[in-house]
Amino acid sequence: MAGSSLWLVQLASLLVIGFVLGSVEASLGDTDLQYRTCVEECQRTSSIGRNIISHCQFPENNSTSAESSWYSQEPLYMQWKQLNCMTDCRYYCMVQREEERQSRGLRPVKYHGKWPFIRVSVFQEPLSAALSAINLLMHFTGWLSFFLQVNYRLPLRPQTKRTYYEYTGLWHIYAILSMNAWFFSSIFHTRDIDLTEKLDYSSAVALLGYSLILSLIRTFNVKDEATRVMFAAPILAFVTTHILYLNFYDLDYGWNMKVCVVMAVVQLLAWAIWAGVTCHPSRFKLWFVVFVGALSMLLEVYDFPPYKGYADAHSLWHACTIPLTYLWWSFIKDDAEFRTSTLIKKAK
Ligand SMILES: [Zn+2]
Repeated sequence: MAGSSLWLVQLASLLVIGFVLGSVEASLGDTDLQYRTCVEECQRTSSIGRNIISHCQFPENNSTSAESSWYSQEPLYMQWKQLNCMTDCRYYCMVQREEERQSRGLRPVKYHGKWPFIRVSVFQEPLSAALSAINLLMHFTGWLSFFLQVNYRLPLRPQTKRTYYEYTGLWHIYAILSMNAWFFSSIFHTRDIDLTEKLDYSSAVALLGYSLILSLIRTFNVKDEATRVMFAAPILAFVTTHILYLNFYDLDYGWNMKVCVVMAVVQLLAWAIWAGVTCHPSRFKLWFVVFVGALSMLLEVYDFPPYKGYADAHSLWHACTIPLTYLWWSFIKDDAEFRTSTLIKKAK
């Protein structure tokens, strides 16, 4: 146990140093004067080089009644068009600037907090969007397999016909929150607007907060409702306040990163130490998930630009979580089996 606690402390401190350094970085690309002039010019003339940005062509600009459909006068449609005009202009100006920078041998820079990605159809970050969808699928199959395990493969309590495993309901909620988070993650990576960004951040924070509650309830073996509420209430209150703060006050990336890293580190430590102390039969599975999970969090902290315009650190992080999700649900099923057999032995 001494060896494993040493690497845990080392990993935890590496993460803490990482997020302190990582949160200082700002977007260089959009402060560049040439980029800003390009975006302004593009929005005004609805063209960039030989490309025509159709979203920037408004009825006022060319009053030849080219667009006289009923919906073209709708304020909501106009807003949508203006939004698309801005994102298209930003995209093409970014591509242009990056080509210039590349020809001069300069490294890619971030624009509005994001690396220069190559679009595929409607997908702004195709790789991250696809990997998020695969993560969702992995959670769904993992959950389904857990459901079948506890309800059909393992025996039920003879009097109540309920599962022996005391944490069944909690894992069901976990599955729903996980799938919700990955759903909004894939939407956000497809189309980054204010709304999709807030939905993605809120669902990720909700999942992280809930899994912290779950990790504490499981590792401290909390079985009665009153004590569970005592564990959950302060975390739930904090997470709710944090989500409201992000949505209605300030979407502060640096602060949010700190909150998320702290919540993640606490639960990873809780799981890892608990598995060692209790000598859980599937502790190696759990340690592997914790170790690789913490390592992959470093990808999120030590960010690097996309390779060939597609694979950046964040997308690799989404790739790492796919096999981890499979292993994680496998651990949860093992835990259900372990608790069930212990309880049956006790009853006899
Ligand atoms: Zn993501």
